[in-house]
Amino acid sequence: MPLDGFDLRADALLLDVDGTLLDIAPTPQSVEVPAELVRTLLALGERTGGALALVSGRPLDDIDRLFHPLEISVVAGHGAELRIAGARAVQLAGSLPAALKRRLQAIADERNGVIAEDKGYAFALHYRLALDRAEELWEAVGRACAAFQAGSLEILPGKAVIEVKGSAFDKGTGVREIMKLPPFRDRRPIFIGDDVTDQAAVAVMPEFGGLAFSVGREMQGAAGMFGSPDDVRGWLGALARTAAIAS
Ligand SMILES: [Mg+2]
Repeated sequence: MPLDGFDLRADALLLDVDGTLLDIAPTPQSVEVPAELVRTLLALGERTGGALALVSGRPLDDIDRLFHPLEISVVAGHGAELRIAGARAVQLAGSLPAALKRRLQAIADERNGVIAEDKGYAFALHYRLALDRAEELWEAVGRACAAFQAGSLEILPGKAVIEVKGSAFDKGTGVREIMKLPPFRDRRPIFIGDDVTDQAAVAVMPEFGGLAFSVGREMQGAAGMFGSPDDVRGWLGALARTAAIAS
């Protein structure tokens, strides 16, 4: 990916986490955050005047734990949570019905290797350790959701994960919210993401004159593609150094 055409004084960087900045791991808890990446993000945060945000399906607490001690702006929970670095977190979405969550938890409990993750506004079933059960798991989740107000729910496919969330918010609505706020406002957003759920953020880029890049797969609306998270990390590192030289 070329480095010219980017200006860290005028651009805002919006970065998905898993599969974009971090290599996918067997479980969400076992991902590794390279120390070099934290240094790169710190440098980019300074060079952009704070216009750097992580845009993730993970809960905000999870992001903070992973990237500790980095103080960073975050669109978390697929757009359910928003925090500008140094400010208080804002909840943009309500919780899923408790009865639905109990039902989804039971689906995980009944199956070996399926790990449940209650995010409040969403519920994820990770099946990386039970890939052979994917089809049957999908059916069970579909049945559970159909019993509730199906129109208000969304079932998201991910990499060995099925996630159920309210349909009123996504990474696109979350990105719209953060782009209203300084220091993001009036900047050109550059979004990088790898997954189906990132498509919503890619789709809102034109509203802000922004650019999107995908990782490891072609994505509709993306201006280019990185091969892997390692390529993204390398590019961001080079971008941080280039900006340092230019300024
Ligand atoms: Mg991802």
